[in-house]
Amino acid sequence: MRIDILTLFPQMFQVPFSAGIFKRAIDHKLVSINLHNIRDYTHDKHHTADDYPYGGGPGMVLKPEPIFEAVEAIKSDISAKEEVRALPIILLTPQGRLFSQQIAQELAKYSHLILICGHYEGVDERVREHLATDEISIGDYVLTGGELPAMVVIDTVVRLLPGVLGSEASPVNDSHANGLLEYPQYTRPAEYRGWSVPEVLTSGNHAQIAKWHREQTIQRTLERRPELLDKTNLCLEEKQLVERLTPPLKQS
Ligand code: SAH
Repeated sequence: MRIDILTLFPQMFQVPFSAGIFKRAIDHKLVSINLHNIRDYTHDKHHTADDYPYGGGPGMVLKPEPIFEAVEAIKSDISAKEEVRALPIILLTPQGRLFSQQIAQELAKYSHLILICGHYEGVDERVREHLATDEISIGDYVLTGGELPAMVVIDTVVRLLPGVLGSEASPVNDSHANGLLEYPQYTRPAEYRGWSVPEVLTSGNHAQIAKWHREQTIQRTLERRPELLDKTNLCLEEKQLVERLTPPLKQS
């Protein structure tokens, strides 16, 4: 996957992409990250990328011209017409659709993404209207810029690409991958400060372990995020488990 990021602060991306799983993914050419400084696409002496908002109000707004030109430069770099047509151009904004594991799975299917990071008061509305094909928010709160949201989106998507995690199976059971929360995980020692690992996990009985995992997944989700269960397709066995674990309604 190729990812192009438009930002006023490319240096912010250096550390997160230079360590751990992400670095390995880049080294193994599973993903390539291209950083574009929006300022490089300005034409005036002072490299002005922002300006005062029309109609007044506080703060500065990112100008449309350098953002349009940066995206056009990236597109002209791509030879296949189909790829250009299908290329998601994602504007990070607190007004976008709320990011989720499902959206990450959707984005992981593309071979190329462009992300636009706003800053200050935001981005000229014409970028949203006539350039972006998607708008994503990472939550109902406001950050100073789109850089951290872009990192959140990229990290979540890249983690899903085949070969990025050590074991292909690892993302499948993750919390939210199938609408449910993951079961609790333990590692050695089997006993720590008197707290033992659940016996079934050290039993070596794979069928029992799988059953425990399924039960824990349902129980956790029921306790912490019951609304997720309503949105998930459960098999009969799982539905029965939910019924068994749901506390009876109190008689009034
Ligand atoms: N005035 C804008 C917020 C600007 S915040 C408004 O009220 O809608 C500055 C920039 O930070 C935005 O352009 C966006 O790129 C980024 N940003 C802030 N919060 C975000 C969030 N929750 N999700 C995604 N991007 C966000």
